Amino acid sequence: MSIKIKEPYMVDDLVVYFTSDSEAVVTDYDCRFELKASINRCECCTYRFNAYRNPGFQCRHIKAIRKLLG
Ligand SMILES: [Zn+2]
Repeated sequence: MSIKIKEPYMVDDLVVYFTSDSEAVVTDYDCRFELKASINRCECCTYRFNAYRNPGFQCRHIKAIRKLLG
């Protein structure tokens, strides 16, 4: 699947909108916050709390981006 920059993609209940090859804005369907995320970091609280203990942690925003980038 080839991903276009600046086009919204639905992944489950998230909308992913790439702003460059590796950076994206992820909007959560239920809370409407926009989060900046990439394949290995995200600004959501879940990621920030878990990444300290588990450096390879992937929140659902990171998973959505990885799913799109294959
Ligand atoms: Zn996240």
